[in-house]
Amino acid sequence: MYRATKVRIYPNKEQAELLDRQFGAVRFVYNKALHIRSHWYKRYGVSLGNIKHIQPLLPIAKKSRKYDWLKNADSNSLQVALQNLDLAFKNFFEKRAKYPKFKRKNGTQSSYHCSNLKVTCDSIKIPKIPSIKANIHRELTGKVKSITITRAPTGKYYASILCDDGLEAAVKPTLITSVTGCDIGLADYLIRDDGKKTANPRYLVNAYRRLRRDSKNLSRKKPGSSNRKKARIKLAAQHERVANARADFQHKLSRSIIDENQAVIVETLKSANMMKNRRLARHIGDAAWNGFVTKLAYKAEQAGVHLVKIDQWYASSKTCHCCGHKMAEMPLKVREWQCPSCLADHDRDINAAINIKQKGITDLMAAGLVVKAHGGLRKSGSEPVAAWEVGSLAVYGGEQSPLCVLFTH
Ligand SMILES: [Zn+2]
Repeated sequence: MYRATKVRIYPNKEQAELLDRQFGAVRFVYNKALHIRSHWYKRYGVSLGNIKHIQPLLPIAKKSRKYDWLKNADSNSLQVALQNLDLAFKNFFEKRAKYPKFKRKNGTQSSYHCSNLKVTCDSIKIPKIPSIKANIHRELTGKVKSITITRAPTGKYYASILCDDGLEAAVKPTLITSVTGCDIGLADYLIRDDGKKTANPRYLVNAYRRLRRDSKNLSRKKPGSSNRKKARIKLAAQHERVANARADFQHKLSRSIIDENQAVIVETLKSANMMKNRRLARHIGDAAWNGFVTKLAYKAEQAGVHLVKIDQWYASSKTCHCCGHKMAEMPLKVREWQCPSCLADHDRDINAAINIKQKGITDLMAAGLVVKAHGGLRKSGSEPVAAWEVGSLAVYGGEQSPLCVLFTH
């Protein structure tokens, strides 16, 4: 299994200069390729989607007098810059992202290296740059596969070290006895089907006044001045603090969910769509659900836990989990409601979490797994119904959904 560890590195002045040149080359290749591909498309209508057109240009550029300085950079990192651009275009064409943008000198810089690497207890070595002092705060096991160096807008340098520990991936159980369904929200960050709610810490919203003050301060500074640089770093540090607090929260929450369950079911939200609601945009950006689901996914992979992602169109909030009645509308402000069909009272989020869990269990059983995590069928003290029996019955649409009884505790 592959495991990435991010460590802080402390290049000296000379090394920082070499690193900045390395970042410059990566950024140049990315931006140049983006320019060429956009130009070809506008001018000749050549498809933007193929990396094969652009890759042969790199060795030609290195031989030319104008761009021969590219030879001083690690060639792998330049190839990867082209691949990253390819991915950015792919995400754009598959409507997951906006059109790729040019990389800026002041933004986060990064560079990928995968050959001639060395990691000791207090240093790392990448091609063409002498060993850099590093704070390896965690023991690394296995073979080092790659190192990605980044420079944050605050000017701090980091190395993400990817190791292959040589072990097989954890085996996921075929008999599942503990499942949780999670709904992700704004008022509460995470709502589990058992009613457990985790409050949304709202790091960005709380830091908003400070961020606004710092960014106003930055905009008043003269372009190119050293005061502007100072203000920019101050603002970046503020953003970094928010991001660190958020990441820490997400890591701890995802860790506890993965440790407690054999299967976790979440809804994948199309937050880009919701971001169009301007009043909510800041809160949604702050919640950063995608980052949270990513953390859940790799922890699940490492621990051998099933992670089921439910499509975002699935009407988890609108459907009554008891009888399957679907409401025509469910505005965001409605927190509690009563089902007009079966008169059950619902907490909006818990009802959604239960629906998500039910849908996930159906998916797991459809994949041939046995799920016995529902606490049994509690209908007038009868014996628990075996999961495979329940699985063969229709879940939605019927008057009496068997799973609805399953989940009433
Ligand atoms: Zn109902």
